[in-house]
Amino acid sequence: MQDYRKDFPIFISTDCVYLDNAATSQRPQSVIDAVSDFYVQSNANPLRGLYDLSMKATERYESARKKAASFIGAGRADEIIFTRNTTESINLAAYSYGDDAVKEGDEIVISIMEHHSNLLPWQRLAKEKKARLVFMEPDESGVIPEKEIEDKICEKTKIVAIAQVSNVMGIRNPVEKIIDRAHRMGAVVLIDGAQSVPHMKVNVTELDADMFAFSSHKMMGPMGIGVLYVKKSIMEKMKPFLMGGEMIEYVTREDATFAELPHKFEAGTVNAADAYGLDAAIDYLNMVGYDYIEKRDTELVNQMMEGMKKMGHITIYGSDDPSKHNGIVTFNVEGVHPHDVSSILNEDGICIRAGHHCAQPLMQFMKVGSTARASAYFYNTKEEIDRFLDCLSRVREVAGYGS
Ligand code: PLP
Repeated sequence: MQDYRKDFPIFISTDCVYLDNAATSQRPQSVIDAVSDFYVQSNANPLRGLYDLSMKATERYESARKKAASFIGAGRADEIIFTRNTTESINLAAYSYGDDAVKEGDEIVISIMEHHSNLLPWQRLAKEKKARLVFMEPDESGVIPEKEIEDKICEKTKIVAIAQVSNVMGIRNPVEKIIDRAHRMGAVVLIDGAQSVPHMKVNVTELDADMFAFSSHKMMGPMGIGVLYVKKSIMEKMKPFLMGGEMIEYVTREDATFAELPHKFEAGTVNAADAYGLDAAIDYLNMVGYDYIEKRDTELVNQMMEGMKKMGHITIYGSDDPSKHNGIVTFNVEGVHPHDVSSILNEDGICIRAGHHCAQPLMQFMKVGSTARASAYFYNTKEEIDRFLDCLSRVREVAGYGS
């Protein structure tokens, strides 16, 4: 195993076992330095000033855009809109594209496993337009069957929005098949890449995704910056999301024309420092490489699953194959509420997530109130997983069930 941990100052300052990477990852020093360096070396309001410092800020912001474009295989930098996070990216898409594209009686197709961020914006749109929100459902192994794709995506479908990787079970959805079916039916597809981009190579051009959303903070970048990729031909038809400074070309008392793409969608002072941090995160991720990340994901999940299986009293959700989990193991301990599991583990410095994971319809579908979720990333160690498993093996005893 490579020693990447030394690059992460948090592992020096704390002794906790961090297994909540699907919620947010940790940041290497190079990312922290990049954000700080932006303020030390180049702080001025970007895109506005005609002086050197502002131009340096603009240069860094726009080079981050180019980096983000090539990172996900987009053909052009102006297909990248910077947002705050995946949530804002999807809201932007639903409002700026969806409001004009969806009419009464149309259908919007998502899946039952979507994060609320990829559900509520479409619920809002469907309600306002009197359109129907249709849910694709997975089989017992968590996979959306081909028949479900064929049945649910039809001539009435105008938009399909689907997570490439589920934040609850870590499963990869068959987005290639979904995009193919949607395009044959004349629908536009948005891929929620919040959980995929940190773990697998994405190429939006090869996928032929129309829109693709992700958050920097889940891939070692700063919080507060996200990306919405939109194909140029679609972006050209979209109305602005937020109104104000920076997104205009010319303004009179009564009217305004808008800035060129993608600035039309980036109203107000932009988050250039964190975009510069995202740029550094992409470099770091590329340096580590997806081959290594995928290998570590499988090793760590395998260790967790094997350990849990030996314990009994534990239900693991999703596939039996560790390589299909993208670092995520979602589980329940018989008789102990997931919140209590998390609190008991916290006593020993283990950080995991418990609750509905912002996916309440999936919990209802799985007929569970909530679950516990341990999510690993490449920098977690075998020793950390041993420590997690050791504490987990004592949870029922601590909760009063005997061992
Ligand atoms: N989509 C998925 C699949 C997620 O896992 C998350 C966050 O956990 C989101 C969307 C929302 O991301 P953010 O909170 O960064 O907007």
